[in-house]
Amino acid sequence: MAKSADSRAAALSTAGLPRLLTGDMRPQLRACLAPGCVFSYVKQHPRRAWCSAGRGDRARVARHYQRHLVAKTDPES
Ligand SMILES: [Zn+2]
Repeated sequence: MAKSADSRAAALSTAGLPRLLTGDMRPQLRACLAPGCVFSYVKQHPRRAWCSAGRGDRARVARHYQRHLVAKTDPES
């Protein structure tokens, strides 16, 4: 009896999986924008662009550094 309940729960969760990948959740799934990061994340905030806050901080620092580096090494512009 407990066994049939378990298998029914397993069947339900398996049936829900395709809907998770193709249904309402799918448009919210985004690839992380951090350089070198291969993770995806569910977009819960319009300005979120990274899989974690730590990645976002690092990506911002890298972008800031890159911009200043370019400005320094290009004196005639
Ligand atoms: Zn990431």
